[in-house]
Amino acid sequence: MLRKNNIRKTNIVSHDRIVLSLPAFIFVATITNFVLFHFPLFSLASDSLIFWSYSGFFSYVTLAVLVLVFTAVSLYLISFISIYLAKAFCLLSVAINAVALYFMMTYQVMLDKTMVSNILNTNIEESIDFAHPKLIVYLLFLAVIPSYLLLRTKVTKLHRGKLILQASAVLMLGVLWIYSASSTWLWFDENAKKLGGRILPWSYVIGLTRLYSEASEEQEIQTLLPLAHFISDQDVDQKRIVVLVIGETARSDNFSLYDYTKNTNPLLEKQDVIALQNAYACTTYTSASLKCILSHTDDDGVFSTNYEVLPSYLRRHDVDVIWRTNNWGEPPVTVTSYTHASDLRKTCKGPGCPYDEALLYGLVERIESSDKRNILVILHQKGSHGPAYNKRYPAEFRQFLPECDTVDLQKCSQQALVNAYDNSILYTDYFLNRTINILKNMSSASTMMMYVSDHGESLGEYNLYLHGTPYSVAPDVQKKIPFLLWMSDTFIDSQNISPEKLKQRSSHTQYNVFHSIMGAFDMRSDIYKEDLNLFQ
Ligand SMILES: [Zn+2]
Repeated sequence: MLRKNNIRKTNIVSHDRIVLSLPAFIFVATITNFVLFHFPLFSLASDSLIFWSYSGFFSYVTLAVLVLVFTAVSLYLISFISIYLAKAFCLLSVAINAVALYFMMTYQVMLDKTMVSNILNTNIEESIDFAHPKLIVYLLFLAVIPSYLLLRTKVTKLHRGKLILQASAVLMLGVLWIYSASSTWLWFDENAKKLGGRILPWSYVIGLTRLYSEASEEQEIQTLLPLAHFISDQDVDQKRIVVLVIGETARSDNFSLYDYTKNTNPLLEKQDVIALQNAYACTTYTSASLKCILSHTDDDGVFSTNYEVLPSYLRRHDVDVIWRTNNWGEPPVTVTSYTHASDLRKTCKGPGCPYDEALLYGLVERIESSDKRNILVILHQKGSHGPAYNKRYPAEFRQFLPECDTVDLQKCSQQALVNAYDNSILYTDYFLNRTINILKNMSSASTMMMYVSDHGESLGEYNLYLHGTPYSVAPDVQKKIPFLLWMSDTFIDSQNISPEKLKQRSSHTQYNVFHSIMGAFDMRSDIYKEDLNLFQ
C-alpha cells in the first residue's frame, strides 16, 4: 500500500514538471540564451555589415554559429561535471544576463575585462544610481520567468560517453563552418573585442577569468636568475647602448633584405645591416613570443618555472633599462622607465607621432641624461599588425598600390592586401633606419641595434589570414621572421666580431636574443650559454 502511494506521488510530480533529455535541455538553453540576450551583438554587427550582401549575410550566419556552438559546447562540458551544476550555471547567468542586457541597452556598454573590473570596483550606492524602474521589467521577463521554467524542468541523465561524442560533433561542425568562412575572419578580427564584449554570458565570464588570471600573474613571483659578473672593466667612460626593437607581425619573406622581389628595405639596404638567415619565431602569437624573446631558456612548458626576464635581470645588474611600447603583451618586467606611446604622444608633434615613430620621441635626450654606463632600450612596435595594415603608416608610405583600405576581404584583391602589408614593412624600414641614425650620432659610444619580429603573418596563402595558427600546423610565413643587426665600428672592435661569420650563420631562434645581449654587455653567469650568443 505504502509503495503504491509513493509511486503515484512520483508520477504526479513528474507530470507537473517539464521533462527534458540532456541534449534537448542544452538545445533549448542555447537557443533561449541566443534569442533573449543578443540584440546588442547583432545591432553592433549591422553597423559594419550589409545584410543583403553575400559577405554581410555570410558574416551574420558565422557570428550566429560562433555564439551557438560556443554556448552549446560549454554547456556540454559543464554537464559533464554535473547536470545540477549546469542548471545552477543557467540560473545564475540568466539573472546576470538580464541586468547586463539592461546596462548594455541603456548605456551602450560592453562587458569586457575593463568593464567587469569597473563594476567590481563600483560600490552599492553608485550602483543604485544606475538603476531605473525599467530594470524591473528586464528582470521579470528575462530572469524571473526563465528561472521559474528552468526550476520546473527535470533533465534526464545521459551516458558520459554519449555526452562527449555529441559535444565533439557540435564542436567539429562549428570548426568546419568557421574554417569554410575564412573570408569573414578579417572582419571578425577587426571587431573581435567589440563583438566578444557583447556575447552573453561569456563576455563577463571571460572578463572575470582574465581579471583573476592577470591578478595572479602579477602576484606570481619570478625566480631570480643567478648573479652575473662583468668580464670587462666597468670604470671606463665609454657608454654601451643596445637597442632591441621588437617587431610586430613582420615576416621575412616580405623584406627585400631577404630577397623579396619588391624593394621594401630601400633605406636599410644602404646601412651596414646584417640580415641573419633562417630565423624562426617560437610561437605564432604576441605574448608567448615576447616571453621567448626575453627568456634565457626554452623550458616554457606549463609547469616550468617562471624565470626573471632579460630587462629585469639587466636592471638588477645596474643597466639602465628603458622600455617604450606602442603595443602590449609583454610579461611583467622591472625596468628603469616604462613608457607607453600614448603618453609620448601627449607632447610629441609631427606626422609620425600617431605611428611607431612616437617611440623615438625624446629618446636621444633620455639616453644622454642617463648616468649609467650600460643602457638597454627596448622599443616594442605596432609594426604590421593587421588586418588594417594601412593604418600602421603615414600617407607618404602608400607606395605599393592599389592598397587594401578595408577589413572586408571581399572588397580587396589579395594583391591589394599584400600591398598594404608591404607598405607597413616599408615604414618599419624607415623606423629602423631612423633608430640606426640616432645611434650613429652617438659616435663616442659603443652601440648596437637588434631587430627581431615576434611572429610572421598569413596573407591569404592556403586560404589563411593573420597569425595564431597552432605552431605544428602553421605555415612557414607565420613562423619565419626577420632578425637584423646593426653594429657600430666600436662595438665590432670591442667584441672582436666578424660580420662575415655572422652573415654565414645558418639558423637562429628568438632565444639568441637573451644570451647575445648579455654578451654585448660582457655579462656572464651560470645561465649564460655561449653557443646562443651571436657575437661569439
Ligand atoms: Zn604579434
